[in-house]
Amino acid sequence: MESLDRSTIWPYDERGEPRDFYYSRYGSPTVAAAERAVGELEGGEALLFPSGAGATTALVLSLLQPGDTVALAAGAYYGTGVTFSSLHKWGLKHVEFDQTGPPPDGVQLVWLEAPSNPFLTMPNLETAAAHPAPVVVDSTVATPVFLRPLEHGADYVLHSATKYLAGHDDVLAGAVVGRDLSELKLFRTRSGISPAPDSAWLLSRGLKTLELRVHRQTESATLLAERLRAHPAVHTVRYPGISGLISFDVDDPRRVETSTRLIVNATSLGGVTSVMESRARWEGDRVPPGLLRLSVGLEDPEALWADLAHALAPAA
Ligand code: PLP
Repeated sequence: MESLDRSTIWPYDERGEPRDFYYSRYGSPTVAAAERAVGELEGGEALLFPSGAGATTALVLSLLQPGDTVALAAGAYYGTGVTFSSLHKWGLKHVEFDQTGPPPDGVQLVWLEAPSNPFLTMPNLETAAAHPAPVVVDSTVATPVFLRPLEHGADYVLHSATKYLAGHDDVLAGAVVGRDLSELKLFRTRSGISPAPDSAWLLSRGLKTLELRVHRQTESATLLAERLRAHPAVHTVRYPGISGLISFDVDDPRRVETSTRLIVNATSLGGVTSVMESRARWEGDRVPPGLLRLSVGLEDPEALWADLAHALAPAA
């Protein structure tokens, strides 16, 4: 078990030279241990950030210059486009494209999401890798258990480690994995977008059960997606066959999301507790008005189905 070291400083060596760790904005042993674990899972070098959005911001600011354009997968996590828009005044531009096909010409970064949240499309990694711009894959939902994007030609993998990697809805963290992250590490230190040791420790703890959790969540989600497809009150069911995230459309999403007893009506995804919410409350008309996003946790799948069936039953 890794120990949790909350120090911000460590003594220099007997010659007065800094050791591996000396000031925690530059790095700390607890953070480094979690980074090693994430790096091994993805097959690269990993850096942690205080959140997934923090990782996104640091990556685009360190890779791009004013006037550069990011091609962002349409239907990807709503907040990623929001983060990019907040950087427009600093000269960042972004355009959306269908990630099942080739990225547009004339962009300096390609941003994919595997699978996209909440539309759950998978990117065409091989086509994107043939594009001259570096390719980032936000692999938050796929997790390295199902996909290792660096092996498919991606240059960077990004995670909201808040979700499946940590897995218990008790830590906010982000990660970037790549082949050589020295520039990004320098930028992280200089910008101060540095992770906290407590978050890193919780992430290390969560990673120990990642594989077990996501396999079980996938089994349960596969069963629930199949039953939702056969349910008369459900229109479209989106489920890519990996991980625990499903989205489906109903006529009265507010009534359905507030009628479950076991599934919590809350945001986020990837935790051990099942949560469900209407995404239109956040994303407006970017999503179908009836779209519900369900993140399947570790509860008994039959109990989850009973809960969903009860919530989907016509109002008395
Ligand atoms: N990427 C994806 C796919 C997400 O779902 C989220 C959050 O919902 C993020 C990035 C942002 O991560 P965080 O909330 O940890 O900042």
